[in-house]
Amino acid sequence: MATVLTVVFAYRRTGKFAFHVLSGALAADPRTAKVAQVFANGPAAIVSAVRDALAAADAAVAAPAPAHRVLVAWSFYTPDFAPAVAELQTVRSACRDPRVVHVAGGVHATAEPEATLRAGWDLVATGEGERTIVDLVLAGQAGHELAIVPGTAALAGDRLRRTPRGERLQLDDCPPFSLAHGRFGPIEITRGCIYACRFCQTPYFAGAAFRHRSVANVRYWVRELVARGFRDFRFLTPTSLSYGTYGPDPDLAAVEALLAGVREDIGPERRLWFGTFPSEVRPEHVTAPSLVLLRRFVTNRALILGGQSGSDRVLAASERGHDAATVERAAALALEHGFVPHVDFLFGLPGETPDDVSATLQCMDRLVARGAKAHGHTFLPLPGTPFRRAAPGRLTAEVRQQLLRLASRGVLYGQWQQQEETAARLAVPPS
Ligand code: SF4
Repeated sequence: MATVLTVVFAYRRTGKFAFHVLSGALAADPRTAKVAQVFANGPAAIVSAVRDALAAADAAVAAPAPAHRVLVAWSFYTPDFAPAVAELQTVRSACRDPRVVHVAGGVHATAEPEATLRAGWDLVATGEGERTIVDLVLAGQAGHELAIVPGTAALAGDRLRRTPRGERLQLDDCPPFSLAHGRFGPIEITRGCIYACRFCQTPYFAGAAFRHRSVANVRYWVRELVARGFRDFRFLTPTSLSYGTYGPDPDLAAVEALLAGVREDIGPERRLWFGTFPSEVRPEHVTAPSLVLLRRFVTNRALILGGQSGSDRVLAASERGHDAATVERAAALALEHGFVPHVDFLFGLPGETPDDVSATLQCMDRLVARGAKAHGHTFLPLPGTPFRRAAPGRLTAEVRQQLLRLASRGVLYGQWQQQEETAARLAVPPS
């Protein structure tokens, strides 16, 4: 007899769009389209959703009752790992039913599955979420063991047991959100990244190659949003001006086809955001032709540029693939073309010396004097990256003071202070 299964998404504000993608994947597959989905925000809501699911399933079926299972799907970024563990413990202590399986996915769990499992999750999804969630639901409904599903990891006794991940997915096969459950978000246009910056989880999680959603597919989803009354259209990509290319040089014809097509679908009044949250622009991609193209189609006048450091030495050690002069040139060009550049800077990168910090602060000063804004971050030794074992980013009292001075003038923003604490928590003790 088949198993009745409910999926409860342990919904968090950060990373909520990942759940919308999973929900869309389940809804799009005819084999899983009818599975019950609940979005539960916070431990009390999760406990209540789990209890309701088990009680409703028990009440709805005639004897002999089929088996029931509840899959609680968790996804969190590295800084949220500790709060997620606390939430899991709260849920587990309130609901100790063996029919409930807690599955963790996302960048952090994928990079450190064993630590995630030892923190209390039953299973880690290491593969691409859209496929793994469908496979888990099918296996669960069939009453199979979930740890045999491809792209998962579990503890077998005291040992980590992993199943191989499948082929990478094509974005055109993956809905960017869930129409059926009314859960929307930005349309992911590119997954994976060729740049492999040593502090970044994206290429190590999503692959070191670009995979693009086709223009026709993007426009299909844009029209679905238009039909539902949306007025703002955003796209998710690691590097906006890499749309359509497979190497380091932008393919502006592909970017134009995308933006012109979307603009045609949304008309002149609705807002098209590109090169700003939740995507950014690499500085070497900022040229007069690319800026003219953006000005023709996009609504935003802020452009988020990845700068990261004012020191060529630190940029080279991080394998960023550009130097500091390129960042300043990009910001100047952006300003000339009517954009306000918001430039990301990362303090405390491995090997950074006081001279490097001073070069970064000077670079920031020059940029803000011209009219740019700076977005400050502190380096986090993120799981899955080559810098995982590096010392956590730390700011000296003098740097902190300089950043606060810029912040008080309204030219710098960011979470660098909280990130310094998070970085210390993430540090791997020397072995
Ligand atoms: S920081 Fe940006 S460009 Fe570098 S690897 Fe990450 S996503 Fe790619």
